[in-house]
Amino acid sequence: MHKKKFKPETLMMSYGYKPELSEGAVKCPIFQTSTFAFKTAEEGKAFFEVAYGIREKNPEEEMGLIYSRLNNPDLEILENRLTLWDEAEECAVFESGMSAITTVLLEFLRPGDLLVYSKPLYGGSDHFIKHILPEFGIHTIGIHADHTKAEIIEKIETSEANDRLKLIFVETPANPTNAIIDITMCHKIAEHFSTEDNTPLLAVDNTYMGPLWSHPLKLGADLVLYSATKYIGGHSDVIAGACLGSKALMARIKGLRTFLGNMAGPWTGWLLMRSLETLKPRMEKQAENARMVADFLRDHPKVESVFYLGHLRPGSQQYKVYQNQYSSAGAMISFDIKGGEKEAFTFLNKLQLFHLAVSLGSTESLAQHPYTMTHADVSSEEKNALGLTEKLARLSIGVEDGDDLIWDITQALEQV
Ligand SMILES: *Cc1c(COP(=O)(O)O)cnc(C)c1O
Repeated sequence: MHKKKFKPETLMMSYGYKPELSEGAVKCPIFQTSTFAFKTAEEGKAFFEVAYGIREKNPEEEMGLIYSRLNNPDLEILENRLTLWDEAEECAVFESGMSAITTVLLEFLRPGDLLVYSKPLYGGSDHFIKHILPEFGIHTIGIHADHTKAEIIEKIETSEANDRLKLIFVETPANPTNAIIDITMCHKIAEHFSTEDNTPLLAVDNTYMGPLWSHPLKLGADLVLYSATKYIGGHSDVIAGACLGSKALMARIKGLRTFLGNMAGPWTGWLLMRSLETLKPRMEKQAENARMVADFLRDHPKVESVFYLGHLRPGSQQYKVYQNQYSSAGAMISFDIKGGEKEAFTFLNKLQLFHLAVSLGSTESLAQHPYTMTHADVSSEEKNALGLTEKLARLSIGVEDGDDLIWDITQALEQV
């Protein structure tokens, strides 16, 4: 008999876990322990040699369990399962999306280096890049979805650190505007600046679309990042992050994670494994509901424009990138209400079913006002230039009944 290659959604219930190692328990227990007993002193010595890179691992040797800052079964099994969606060699899970992102930035950037990043970015990433990295002497250049490859190359070439490009960090689709950055183009830009002794890397924050609807590593990205708080966790009850990539790059990231100590704990690992079992059905239902809501909003007289990937005009440049990068329009919608902050706030205050809360990707639908909430820290000029204005509301669509969601939006808009 042949072995069948199972799909990731099938493997989320079992992959990487052996019941016989845990009293036959069908589900992976929570290994709520800080430290692990070695069978012998020789074994402890051998585990440390491998963990600290003192010698190479033998082909049959597995990394032994030492201490939960270095490794823990809940974390390792979770990481192995996460690699399946993105077909990555390795994964590292962190205690938040921000710790995954900042660990990557700190590992690959040194004083004098150049970072190119996309705009708009998640508020926390934006703050770290604009206010913390410059303190370490790191140069930055922001790009947005309308910039062409030639324009970006010129921006880099004319910058003071033009021979020090180390990292391109993009978030696509961008939060909250749904603007799309072309990952393949960014990969070509990284290649363009690649020299014998400097290979710029491309890292993609795939929180909005992953790990189901987009796989940036296949499009030329070196690293893919997630706030696992969002779709991966999916129940608004845990904060976590993940980074995936090649063995070589992940060895560096896991090395820094060990010393920053920002790995996720066993309880977080266990919760995320539970979440992964329903990742695909949750995200599919969310996307289906989002299409209903977006179509409804498009025809509403109090709505000026809707930013939803399923409404991109076929033939447009953004549509081409969308088709190349994404297998779904996702479940994030933002829209301009006719008016400004007052009208947007009335709409948000009148919602009965949607929670007025930040975060996204969860089973329950959420609504918020990016201008004054998630992106409060970004300058007004920059926000307005990016279409992130006071009349913009952002919706994260959950798994509720789609008609119930439309009923809620209808009654809230009526009161505006
Ligand atoms: C939420 C989010 C983050 C930060 O993740 P945390 O888990 O809150 O630390 C980063 N990027 C994007 C796109 C996000 O939505």
